[in-house]
Amino acid sequence: MTDGTLISPDLLGIMQCPKCAGSLAERPDPPALVCQDCGHAYPVKDGIPVMLLDEDR
Ligand SMILES: [Zn+2]
Repeated sequence: MTDGTLISPDLLGIMQCPKCAGSLAERPDPPALVCQDCGHAYPVKDGIPVMLLDEDR
């Protein structure tokens, strides 16, 4: 694993919120990516961000 980084900066740079296309930021505890625009949080499990939207169901 990398030092305290959930997602590689390169990957994080190209990822965007599937809901609003906003930029994402890491949140260390609990591990998640949080959209800077709409505030939706996507959990990171085993280093893999789970980009699912509850509203799709
Ligand atoms: Zn968003």
